[in-house]
Amino acid sequence: MDCIFCNIAAGNADTQVIFENENYKAFLDINPVNYGHTLVIPKKHYDNFLTVPENELNGLIKLTQFLAGVIKRSLNADGFNIISNNGTSAGQSVFHSHFHIIPRFDKDFAMKPETKTYSENSMNEYAGKIRSFVTKYEDLLNAKEN
Ligand code: 5GP
Ligand code: ZN
Repeated sequence: MDCIFCNIAAGNADTQVIFENENYKAFLDINPVNYGHTLVIPKKHYDNFLTVPENELNGLIKLTQFLAGVIKRSLNADGFNIISNNGTSAGQSVFHSHFHIIPRFDKDFAMKPETKTYSENSMNEYAGKIRSFVTKYEDLLNAKEN
């Protein structure tokens, strides 16, 4: 198996497991942003957020919410980040879909990207461009899974 997270899902790689059931696994990130930084994965391989089927995504998000609460309480964290990097340009390095849960503390470091300012009318243009695709594809949102 080429995918490291498939190996972890199958129990073939050494890792600190936080939670596991038939469909999902959560384990400590080997290079944590903060101690306790946890990754939550579906056991089945999907490359990224966009390719996870609806029913599995629902379970993945529910588990991520549960574990975020558990991590916050158990580590006395003040907050947490939930992150999903998708594509190399977004910092994805393992192409097996996952959520990061990063415990955060008051007076912690800032984890905000640099922001841009819209030039005149360009906010309108960006919104229009995205809205036209929402209209084009919104049948997908309402489609029922078989
Ligand atoms: P991404 O960069 O794709 O959003 O996140 C992948 C994460 O997986 C990184 O934060 C990286 O530290 C972590 N990671 C990569 N290889 C391993 C591994 O073998 N074991 C564990 N526990 N984490 C890993
Ligand atoms: Zn995989």
